[in-house]
Amino acid sequence: MVEPISFLVGAALLAAGYSAGRFGRRGPTAPPHLTPVCGCGHALSQHDTETHTCYAELRRDAYDRKGRWAGDSWVPCTCRQYVGPRPIDEVFLPPLLPPAE
Ligand SMILES: [Zn+2]
Ligand SMILES: [Zn+2]
Repeated sequence: MVEPISFLVGAALLAAGYSAGRFGRRGPTAPPHLTPVCGCGHALSQHDTETHTCYAELRRDAYDRKGRWAGDSWVPCTCRQYVGPRPIDEVFLPPLLPPAE
């Protein structure tokens, strides 16, 4: 005797898997975040290599004294050091050897 509930569940799972496989790859998907970013959300390239501070600017809404929107104001990022992942070739940079005689 076939259990009708198990049969229905199995059929539903099959249909779901079939749908996922059939429709899962449709259209362009958002690419994963490949660029390593700092905790402030900016890339390593936006951080000063010597002072380590972030020189990107953040847009803020500015308001006048009556609370009305007065336009955009740009404020420097408060990040003081890049804390995100770094490219490996930058961390393990081989020392430059003098040319052999
Ligand atoms: Zn930043
Ligand atoms: Zn940062």
